[in-house]
Amino acid sequence: MANEKIKLLVVASESVPFAKVGGLADVVGALGKELFNKGMDVRIVIPEYTCVQDYIKENQISILNSHEISIPLESGTAKGKVDEINYDGVTYYLIDNPHYFKRDGIYIDSKTKNDYSDSLERFTFFCKSALEAAKIFDFRPDIVQSNDWQTSLVPVYLKTVYKVDPFYKSIKSILLIHNLSYQGIFPVEQFTITGLDWKYFTVNGLEYYGHLNLMKGGIVFSDTVVTVSETYAREIQTAEYGNGLEGITKNKAAQNKLLGIVNGVNYQEWNPQIDIYLKQKYNLNYQLSSFENKKKIKELFLKEHGIVAPNMRKPLIGMISRLVDQKGFDLLFEIIDGLLKDGIYFTLLGTGKYEYETRLKAIKEKYPEQALVFIGFDIPLSHHIEAASDIFLLPSRYEPCGLNQLYSMKYGSVPVVRNTGGLADTVKDGKTGFIFNDYSPEELLITLKKAVELYENSHEKWLKMVETGMNENWSWDRAAQKYLDLYKTLKDS
Ligand code: ADP
Repeated sequence: MANEKIKLLVVASESVPFAKVGGLADVVGALGKELFNKGMDVRIVIPEYTCVQDYIKENQISILNSHEISIPLESGTAKGKVDEINYDGVTYYLIDNPHYFKRDGIYIDSKTKNDYSDSLERFTFFCKSALEAAKIFDFRPDIVQSNDWQTSLVPVYLKTVYKVDPFYKSIKSILLIHNLSYQGIFPVEQFTITGLDWKYFTVNGLEYYGHLNLMKGGIVFSDTVVTVSETYAREIQTAEYGNGLEGITKNKAAQNKLLGIVNGVNYQEWNPQIDIYLKQKYNLNYQLSSFENKKKIKELFLKEHGIVAPNMRKPLIGMISRLVDQKGFDLLFEIIDGLLKDGIYFTLLGTGKYEYETRLKAIKEKYPEQALVFIGFDIPLSHHIEAASDIFLLPSRYEPCGLNQLYSMKYGSVPVVRNTGGLADTVKDGKTGFIFNDYSPEELLITLKKAVELYENSHEKWLKMVETGMNENWSWDRAAQKYLDLYKTLKDS
């Protein structure tokens, strides 16, 4: 099989189930597994953070091989090791260095709530180690796929310092952008940490208004840039969504080196019929009243969290989100009072910006009989919210792909989303959900009210929409096939 011949090294700062902050982790783990299932030789490199070590220990995953590495850095030679494990068939190389990775957080210092001050050094070490790991394990990939700014130095190194080594020569590189607004920007004084020659610190290289910009370097130096939806691939070429890199992305697109592939869903994990976190499972089988279980889950969820006698004619609107500006909370705060006064239920699970956490807690206190707010990161609870909700809200200012609208369709929770990025590519207005265009509280309110009205007054139509959404198929199979086609083209180019 031709697929077997393609060797792919994925370099990432997160991967499920070992380390997760956001959607990047889901994509790295699930896509890797799907490509493996399709016969590709795929290996994933991630840092061996404390949470990774904990996971391995708890799940008794054995370290199959271990090799020492020495990485030349500006501060001296950093020593570490690469541990090889196998998870679900896929080979992972874990880069172990206690100084850089044995910490409570992945990117953020839990005490100061700021990014670690040595982020550039940590990920310089990691990117170099990932390339070294391939050599140590004698795995010469056809393609290296890096993810977001943390691993953007990989395509830069392949085209500069590493290209003189025959092992790395002619390896193709892909940068997968999950979110262009996090770019890894550092003061010019830190440029020497990368070990790159100053000749690359130019407007056509890694320089960005006098600063070092890793994502920019990744875009410029990679052979192909992929982002996680077709609409987002177009959006990032505009001033509104390009975060200052629109010139670079436009240029890449003009060379046919920028494309979008919508993420998939792991339906082993996100499927109400087999969801390990739900006591009551459900599907669309009305005859067996299976779908009635969704109602029971909602009722139980509300009661368990202190809403003693919920009015089941009123919908539950759910949200699961990082609490950051991107996700549309400014709109939500303007309309939530009006909605709650109409008697609907609202639940949110999230963690992030302190101001948002405080405002959300205040909503919970003001409407204890209607609003359930959970501040934190809680995977089982996220599954319960998907199952219990009638409506799922994603009013994002921008959304590269978004995963929760895909999960919610499967869980019969109708998505209400803004017309942007992957939300625009996956939700069909009036068929599987509701879409609003302008980033305004008025439009959000009008659209949410349409959804509430349909739920309350047109039961048959509502069920039709739920059913259409539940029957959508956004499995990784479709997305992985597109990646495979890309790898084949790139390998042969
Ligand atoms: P982003 O990567 O911008 O955070 P995505 O929709 O692509 O957004 O992916 C977010 C992923 O993280 C989803 O799987 C979502 O369910 C999960 N998630 C976000 N916040 C939480 C939370 N507080 N608890 C559990 N899971 C969460």
